[in-house]
Amino acid sequence: MSLDAPYDPHNIFAKIIAGDMPSVQLYEDDDTLAFMDVFPQSEGHCLVVHKTAPATNLLAIEPQALSAVMNGVQKITKAVVKGLSPDGVRVAQFNGAPAGQTVFHLHFHVIPVYEGAALGAHASGGPAAPDVLEPVAAKIRAAL
Ligand code: 5GP
Repeated sequence: MSLDAPYDPHNIFAKIIAGDMPSVQLYEDDDTLAFMDVFPQSEGHCLVVHKTAPATNLLAIEPQALSAVMNGVQKITKAVVKGLSPDGVRVAQFNGAPAGQTVFHLHFHVIPVYEGAALGAHASGGPAAPDVLEPVAAKIRAAL
């Protein structure tokens, strides 16, 4: 997918936002939605998206919507740190397939990092079951 490809309203995150696809959700407000990554690179890996901006990537979003989603990113990052006590936390975002982007609805990864534990591969492996993700999500929600 090129950097200037048109937004596909049927992408997987649009379906999650619409409630047409299940996800383990963490937080929602008028602008943003946060949910657990189903192929987590570490315990607590989650994603933050803008709910209504039809942006494939960082280049395509209006500044006001970007500001709103970044507020959500900071809120979730704080909750991940408070709720899971990682040693570090990575916030990542990819633009275009050659850069590693696999879902073309702008999103930010919040990935807790634990000393001595290598991060898993990006967007690969088997999906984590909801009953595995849910207790971790509960700790993050409780820290919001
Ligand atoms: P990207 O590669 O576009 O930066 O990140 C997409 C992320 O979405 C990956 O980390 C991948 O594990 C995650 N992902 C892909 N499909 C789904 C899904 O159906 N549900 C959830 N919750 N995450 C997904």
